[in-house]
Amino acid sequence: MSAANRWPAEGSRQAGLLARLDLRRPEDLIVHLPLRYEDETRLTPIAQTQPGETAQIEAVLLSCETARPRQQLLARLRDDAGGEIVARWINFYPSLQKQLTPGRRFRLFGEVRSGFFGIEMVHPRLRPATEGEPLPQALTPVYPATAGLSQTALRGLVDFALQNTPLDDLLPAELFHRLDLPGFAEAILNLHRPPPEADARALETRTHPAWRRIKFEELLVQQLSLRRAYNARRAHEAISLPPRRTLTAALCEHLPFPLTAAQCRAVAEIAADLASPHPMQRLLQGDVGSGKTLVAVCAMLQAAENGWQAVLMAPTEILAEQHYRKLAAWLAPLGRDVAWISGGRKKREREAGLARLRSGECLLAVGTHALIENPVDLPRLALAVIDEQHRFGVRQRLTLRDKGASGARPHMLMMSATPIPRTLAMTHYADLDVTVLDELPPGRTPVATRLVCATRREEIAARLKTACLDGQQAYWVCPLIEESEALQLKTALETWETLKAALPELRIGLIHGRLKSEEKAAAMAAFSAGDLHVLVATTVIEVGVDVPRASLMVIEHAERFGLAQLHQLRGRVGRGSARSTCVLMYERPLSETARARLKAIYEQSDGFAIAREDLRIRGPGEFIGARQSGLPLLRYADLETDGDMTDMARDVAEELLATAPEAVDKLLARWLGGREALLRA
Ligand code: ADP
Ligand code: MG
Repeated sequence: MSAANRWPAEGSRQAGLLARLDLRRPEDLIVHLPLRYEDETRLTPIAQTQPGETAQIEAVLLSCETARPRQQLLARLRDDAGGEIVARWINFYPSLQKQLTPGRRFRLFGEVRSGFFGIEMVHPRLRPATEGEPLPQALTPVYPATAGLSQTALRGLVDFALQNTPLDDLLPAELFHRLDLPGFAEAILNLHRPPPEADARALETRTHPAWRRIKFEELLVQQLSLRRAYNARRAHEAISLPPRRTLTAALCEHLPFPLTAAQCRAVAEIAADLASPHPMQRLLQGDVGSGKTLVAVCAMLQAAENGWQAVLMAPTEILAEQHYRKLAAWLAPLGRDVAWISGGRKKREREAGLARLRSGECLLAVGTHALIENPVDLPRLALAVIDEQHRFGVRQRLTLRDKGASGARPHMLMMSATPIPRTLAMTHYADLDVTVLDELPPGRTPVATRLVCATRREEIAARLKTACLDGQQAYWVCPLIEESEALQLKTALETWETLKAALPELRIGLIHGRLKSEEKAAAMAAFSAGDLHVLVATTVIEVGVDVPRASLMVIEHAERFGLAQLHQLRGRVGRGSARSTCVLMYERPLSETARARLKAIYEQSDGFAIAREDLRIRGPGEFIGARQSGLPLLRYADLETDGDMTDMARDVAEELLATAPEAVDKLLARWLGGREALLRA
């Protein structure tokens, strides 16, 4: 193999191409591992090839011609055993045609098919060969590449990197003995340059011990970087807010219900965090309807009873308003008021709220992202709660963090109803402490889920009518149209019109994202008050909306929604004591994924089980995509198959951080280079 004897100069074309793959140093290429391998160590006689199989053959060119209709290039070749094959190119460069002179010997690599011209290879890889030329001794690695950067060039650069980078083990050898895994150098060489006797199948499926070794190190590095980021943030100062129980106890006295055991546990964990002089960074996870808002309010009151400010930020205006109303009602008996800050509020009201926050007269605020925009001035901010945190980007979270009073960082409580499966939480949220609300308030009746083909739309409408005339309330969720907001709006209006025409006896309202804030608020209020039977809605109601009397939900084109979204939507009903139903209307044909999603939502009601399914269907990259946090996603380890190593990785990470900080530095440098800075956020 031809080793490049230099590293591309900074600013060169090749350096630019490498940067596209995030490869900036020879070290980066060491851990840029093959996607797969090609076996060029053997030649297969043409007569022995099987259709569908990938093979390498060596043959002499008989003839070459271009053929219509689609200007194809056809080359006929014969091997030494007399077998014949046709190589076919649909697109080709003149240089290829020039190479193809009769009598010349070639090696062809590709998938064998039985085609119109007999045995053929379409777009094989082809290179001239001399008779008796030795075969490569190792499987040929195929690397993740980018247009303009050939495999040959990448292989050369990897060779350069392998020759010029120390491959010493940064982990205690004893550890890998214990895990029965090879050392770093051995694993890396095995993966980049597998020896001829390597178990090709184990390399392909990434179950080979060399792969396990690298995956473990990757998981470990992820743990290390997340824990370091956590520790770094933890080292900052925050306002200590010991539980004084003046306001929190008063709240509990006035509530019409007791906290659930899970809520009590969560409140206690958070209370202890808030008392510390370092910023809390906690994720509160709880299924839809588990009562996260109340836990947040207890935390906010703990700040207030110490004389400090707390804010609750929600992703939509509807949700912010709903939180505001709930908090205002809960806090009125305590003589506490809450400022409500959102972009859609009247200027005068907003200004008044801002002034009370600025003066420190008001300690509690609820709002949308308007809360983090200027000129919101929170001189005594000590706690920020972010509801439905996956709806916010890192930037917004950081802005809120920097609003902390007098140089201290605010305590942060993130809330999410998208439960994160354990392996994922451990690998991607290891920079947060996690509290789980694993219990719903009593008295909920499970939601019955029905899957109904859209051809039965009229039947559904008729049932809806009966139910509503019988005193129930319903949501009718319009199809999601991801490609076009305008189209989504149009569909919502049409659905509303059609339903009104079909069900003149019912009072039907409409809510969607394009309505003015007051209009949205009015529609929600009318529905909450029971003045509307049906609320036709887009996904604006997906998060958090809480109208306990609504007991029926119809979702059109359910097959277009994601699993988490369906779970969220369904969670809007089943909040009161009435028996609730969720009708998922779908349109045929169903894709494989849509079928899997509908099956999962039909069979499961537990958010964690659904999240596990979702993770399985979508994979971790997309699952946590909304976090956009610059966190290193795993390149090699797969949580489905390598999840068994995460516990071990976490334990080893703790140990290394405590006992071998230099080894940690080196590991992070090897795997992340300069990118670790991103994690300090
Ligand atoms: P989520 O966790 O989805 O944000 P909410 O905080 O909106 O859930 O709570 C759902 C509903 O349950 C609300 O109407 C809330 O007032 C009610 N709730 C919260 N805690 C309790 C409790 N301990 N007992 C009874 N109802 C409760
Ligand atoms: Mg909520």
